Amino acid sequence: MGSFTGYKCSICGTEYQPDEVTYTCPKDNGILDVVLDYQALKTKSTEELILKDEHSLWRYFPLIPVKEMIGEGTTLRSAGWTPVFSPPQIKDKLGLKKLWIKDESSNPTASFKDRASAILVARAKEIGAEVIVTASTGNAGAALAGMAAAVDQESVIFAPKTAPPAKIAQLLIYGARVILVDDNYDAACKISLEASEEFGWYNRNTGYNPFTAEGKKTAAYEIWEQVLLTNQLDRPLCVFVSVGDGNIISGIHKGFKDLYEIGQIKVMPRIFGCQSTGSAAIYNAYISGKEEIIPVQATTMADSISVNMPSDGLRALRAATQTEGAYIAVEDQKILEAISDLGAVGIFAEPAGATALAGLKAALQEGLVSEEDPILVMNTGSGLKDVKAAKQAAGEAPVIKPSLEELKELLEG
Ligand SMILES: *Cc1c(COP(=O)(O)O)cnc(C)c1O
Ligand SMILES: [Zn+2]
Repeated sequence: MGSFTGYKCSICGTEYQPDEVTYTCPKDNGILDVVLDYQALKTKSTEELILKDEHSLWRYFPLIPVKEMIGEGTTLRSAGWTPVFSPPQIKDKLGLKKLWIKDESSNPTASFKDRASAILVARAKEIGAEVIVTASTGNAGAALAGMAAAVDQESVIFAPKTAPPAKIAQLLIYGARVILVDDNYDAACKISLEASEEFGWYNRNTGYNPFTAEGKKTAAYEIWEQVLLTNQLDRPLCVFVSVGDGNIISGIHKGFKDLYEIGQIKVMPRIFGCQSTGSAAIYNAYISGKEEIIPVQATTMADSISVNMPSDGLRALRAATQTEGAYIAVEDQKILEAISDLGAVGIFAEPAGATALAGLKAALQEGLVSEEDPILVMNTGSGLKDVKAAKQAAGEAPVIKPSLEELKELLEG
């Protein structure tokens, strides 16, 4: 730690000192990248960068821009360090040589968002913030509420009132102050920013607070340790991830850029962003070949990636264009199928989580990647968070009277 030297604007490139700004670039509202002391980090060995005794994202503390590891003995200290699986059924069905699935549903609040929130809460403590606020489609809020609860930090969550009931219940059970907005996610973002300005609350919003990506980048470090350091790959790893606001994909890109910058990886993984055709603002920009994100009217059932105007769109676009990756858009029907594919190997994903696998299948069909490419698919969230979607994917179970006769009829029928 202590490697935090300032910020750099993703639009105009202006650099700022750590205490000069809090959120976006004062000149153009560009999202800020956190800059580390790469010179110092370059001199460190792999062993010095990984704290093997920490079984969480905190194992990469030397690369994380907060001063203190907080929350010992709490769930905050257990975010990240999620498992990677190589289910042979999916690998063989798709004809792949190498496939990994990184399962973020095993995070303490059951989504990828814990990575961001753990770091955010640590940052909040460092700057003495009394209240943290966020807008959320559900998971970011649950993650903030859960991580904040772990260390008695006050949190306020604005979520669309249409968020899946399990996510709302989760927010409430963690004891956050939950305010449901009678509008969409974009509107929840707007009111959270206004509230943060009015009441001085520290704002965690995705694509606004530069520290969320610093938490999310730890997934890239884990991929480095779990896949790149332990396998001889003769081609760049292709990483598939679902995209809404674009902060997860930007964070993963940042993580790999950090590692490349300090000489820990020699080949950049290729990053593939997967969106629903019902919420495809960044995909559209990718196809147009321009760095211009035009808002859409989001209609997808994958609520965690349902966004009209992605708040981290530019960096998210570059995550693909700068790594020879691509963007892929898939129909919601394909997302439901991917939920079933993952379920069939024992992984329960929410729609946004399964979108990455749906994207991989489309990318193989379109020839964006080949069977020879080593592939890693992120499942970003648990299916228990959205039971309605799971039921849509799985259909209904038959009901019988508890009699052998009826059972036989059913089995034969
Ligand atoms: C938030 C979220 C995403 C998308 O992340 P963005 O940073 O908005 O692109 C994908 N899947 C799940 C489960 C999420 O909660
Ligand atoms: Zn700027």
